Amino acid sequence: MRASRLFMPTLKEDPSDAEAASHKLLVRGGFVRQFASGIYIFLPLGWRVIERVNRIIREEMDAIGALELSMPTIHTADVWQQTGRYYDIGGEMFRLKDRSGRDMVLAMTHEEVFTWLASRELRSYRELPQIWYQIQLKFRDETRPKGGVLRVREFLMKDSYSFDADAEGLEVSYAKHIQAYDRIFERTGLRFHRVDSDPGMMGGAQAHEYMAPSPAGEDRVAVCSSCGYAGNIELARSVARAPEGSVSEVLEEVPTPGQRTIRQVSEFLELPASSLIKSLLVVTGEERVLALVRGDQELHQRKLERHLQREVRPAHPEEVEEATGAEIGFIGPLGVDVRIVADESLAPTGPGGARAYVTGANKAHTHLLGVMLGRDVDPEYADLREAQEGDSCVECGSALTVEPTIEVGNIFKLGTKYSVALGATVLDEDGVEIPLVMGSYGIGPARIAAAAVEQSHDEKGIVWPKSIAPFDVHLVQVHATDEEQTRVAAHLYEALGEEGWQVLWDDRDERPGVKFKDAELIGCPVRVTVGRRAAEGVVEVEPRGGDQSRREVSVDELPEVVSELWRLAD
Ligand code: ATP
Ligand code: MG
Repeated sequence: MRASRLFMPTLKEDPSDAEAASHKLLVRGGFVRQFASGIYIFLPLGWRVIERVNRIIREEMDAIGALELSMPTIHTADVWQQTGRYYDIGGEMFRLKDRSGRDMVLAMTHEEVFTWLASRELRSYRELPQIWYQIQLKFRDETRPKGGVLRVREFLMKDSYSFDADAEGLEVSYAKHIQAYDRIFERTGLRFHRVDSDPGMMGGAQAHEYMAPSPAGEDRVAVCSSCGYAGNIELARSVARAPEGSVSEVLEEVPTPGQRTIRQVSEFLELPASSLIKSLLVVTGEERVLALVRGDQELHQRKLERHLQREVRPAHPEEVEEATGAEIGFIGPLGVDVRIVADESLAPTGPGGARAYVTGANKAHTHLLGVMLGRDVDPEYADLREAQEGDSCVECGSALTVEPTIEVGNIFKLGTKYSVALGATVLDEDGVEIPLVMGSYGIGPARIAAAAVEQSHDEKGIVWPKSIAPFDVHLVQVHATDEEQTRVAAHLYEALGEEGWQVLWDDRDERPGVKFKDAELIGCPVRVTVGRRAAEGVVEVEPRGGDQSRREVSVDELPEVVSELWRLAD
């Protein structure tokens, strides 16, 4: 492609509203433009990247026997009503009416419509397994679209759905997806972890997320670099370190005027935070529950919800006073008449053993020293706390790290929730009607592209992984009007093209500085510069990333050198 014919509107300045590196660089590099909040246009360069990602996805999905099709993005509400999601999902769903007043929705995802199709078309276990996929638009009215194309309101998703006769069949379809996804993310050049993820409140089913480490990520994962254990912080398990300090085992009230937070109490009493217990009152339906974690730990609400099998919310200040007689900051487990759940690390069998802690005294401006769980109060124990740096791995005991990540894909064992709701059954070997056992699997191609930029850029611009760069080779002709340069560039453009390279030939009549800046910004893996020494048949070649430096080579050698640099690139 000649740059003079390409629409490539690069910018000198970052967009003013951008924070994430991928947001800035994809806009500045002329890959995308924002049309409205969370709604983006993919310009030619951006679309080339998406198409390259999609191609990798298609090849790997096809390799596990998945079949591509295309589903509508506007749905009648009835299927969504039958599964209940029409009512369960709030403002994230775009809803509208057709001209006759019928309720319609824009596709947020496609479980309903795929299952609808399966319910009509699949009759016998003999037709199974089926894996169907599409690369199709989704619409979600996200509360906080942000980060450029990382979280948007209209986006492409590769979504696939597996249909099997039984749980063993689902295991196989799920394993195939793990294989395809591992390959897809390896090929796109991302650094990623496959992590255990929250399969939803009622448990049972299994789910994994594919997470690309990046400071721009909204999720956090705990990872063990020794044994490879990795889990979303929503469910990652860990072994807590032992608490520090010691507290007398004699129960004793101490005045703590105005000392409400763990930090304040810890400083005031000159005790480490891990000698304190944090008490948090939550409300679930009609029930009040007091959750306890150590002062140096954080409660993870999802973990508590999974233990209780219900959603919870923090109690309002009046509810706290009503249940404990004290204000937030001074509450504790002794003498309250509510269900109490403590983090398992507080158990006498935990890393601190049977020991005393400080809690609130359920009395204004007062704390209680010497509280022993098991002796003074007998809570239930569950894994409630967030895994944190300094904890060790439950599998191998090595140190865990916690890192921010971008979710680029996920896989999920659905079971029969959708097939039962929509009557998607087949006849088994004995002629008995059985519901299809399903899995659902998503990937965001634009998230992959943006995550790649987050992971691979420098102060000058993007350093694309070679498999998803918009072009392989950026051929910069320094002076567009120089005849020798034009001759050499045209020759190289053709020669490289014949060898299968995708070449962007910058033949624009622009200042050399502008061209070099654009080449760095756009980030194609190999740059070839046709300049001063073109008449002698000498050009410069340089990889965009890595530690190889610029070198001069003869025009004849160039294709070989490009292949060599390519092999060395990520
Ligand atoms: P998130 O937790 O980030 O909201 P999700 O769990 O809602 O993601 P899924 O519904 O499972 O995501 O979608 C599958 C994939 O689609 C995600 O892994 C991600 O790559 C992509 N995706 C989801 N929501 C968005 C969005 N708002 N913008 C861009 N890509 C998205
Ligand atoms: Mg979401």
